Amino acid sequence: MRNTLAIHGGPKVRETLFPAHVTVGAEEKAAVMKVMDSGILSNYLGAYHENFMGGAQVRECEARWAERFGAKHALAMNSNTSGLIAAMGAIGVVPGDEVIVTAYSMSASAVAPLFYGATPIFADVEPETFCIDPESIAAAITPRTKAILVVDLFGLPFDVQKIRALAKKHGLKIIEDAAQAPGAMMGQEYAGLLGDIGVFSLNYHKHIHSGEGGILLTNDDDLAHRLSLIRNHAENVTAQTGVTNLTNMIGHNFRMTEIEAAIADSQLQKLDGLLQARWDRVAYFEKKMAGFDALAVPKVRGGAVHAYYQHACLWNTQLGVDRNAFVNAVRAELPSFELREKEGVKLGAGYVKPIYLLPVFANRVSIGGQYDPLKSSWQNYSRGLCPVVEDLHFNRLITHEFIVPSMTDADIDDVVHAFEKVWDQRTHLA
Ligand SMILES: *Cc1c(COP(=O)(O)O)cnc(C)c1O
Repeated sequence: MRNTLAIHGGPKVRETLFPAHVTVGAEEKAAVMKVMDSGILSNYLGAYHENFMGGAQVRECEARWAERFGAKHALAMNSNTSGLIAAMGAIGVVPGDEVIVTAYSMSASAVAPLFYGATPIFADVEPETFCIDPESIAAAITPRTKAILVVDLFGLPFDVQKIRALAKKHGLKIIEDAAQAPGAMMGQEYAGLLGDIGVFSLNYHKHIHSGEGGILLTNDDDLAHRLSLIRNHAENVTAQTGVTNLTNMIGHNFRMTEIEAAIADSQLQKLDGLLQARWDRVAYFEKKMAGFDALAVPKVRGGAVHAYYQHACLWNTQLGVDRNAFVNAVRAELPSFELREKEGVKLGAGYVKPIYLLPVFANRVSIGGQYDPLKSSWQNYSRGLCPVVEDLHFNRLITHEFIVPSMTDADIDDVVHAFEKVWDQRTHLA
């Protein structure tokens, strides 16, 4: 029978792979060839020298990103993960400190404090926007709290007004993980500049990418200076640069190469067009799904512009259909994307596991040894710690990437048909 669900052996709604989401093209190729022809693939020196701040491409890329977002400083690094670690160092996080983090994000957002011996303290998220919840943050603040590491999850800025007020009241820094939100806004302000330091990711899965890479924004001169030192073997140059606060002035090598910087520069020129395409895709999908009561599309906070890294929807559990059974059945009806075939169908029951349930937290072992910063945590890293996150993850959230710019209206129609087919056949789900 034509309507038999694919999980029960019926025909899929669609077999042909969805079109590849590729953001790089002729411009990036030309930019890379220029770097190749120059013979200089990286031009940093880890010593007091005019090349301490990197080569021509890195500097040009930074200038363009700073200009695009109206930031006083942009710093290129080799990943967002490196950028978050450098940010912890720059704001002076030390062993014994606590940094409040969200329980729901890519794991890098929560582990950054551990590299400086500080303890991540998990806050729960808002039930409808999935960003870190100001009330949960307030309840987690102690005399040891040094900073709040917020995430613009799925591309939606965090609650800027409330979290800034908390930070001000308690003298805390805000570090913003804007990996999923380039071009997102709160009021007139861009994501990436909503805290003291903001960090974008340029990895292959993000809106725009350079293979790997990260761009940090800040309007604070001192933080920008400390970030530039930590990026490039700080210990070698403190004497010559007159740095007197030596805390965290042991550096890393978080440098971006000239090739990645040239690509990052070209990619930035495409951001606005790619964002517009995502907004168009979201509008089309949401129009098509308007009558589908089982699924609520993402709520956008008042005053915010959402960048839609993913389209995170809420399943209506009141209608008596199990989310996991539904998602599994829809997945069976659809193909994956070209070039990402092995990543599977880009539709998920939940997002990533609540971070505190990962073995390093559950077992309280990060760097190991007697002084492991997880040993002294007052939090219990187990089920029950963040009830909203757990309900979203295990029961209610449905994430998908069928809003990437490569999707045509006809492609989205197939996705909608798959949702409808499974809904119509819901009595046949387990
Ligand atoms: C992708 C991502 C990261 C990690 O970025 P990298 O550049 O791969 O280090 C961190 N946080 C969030 C929210 C992300 O989506």
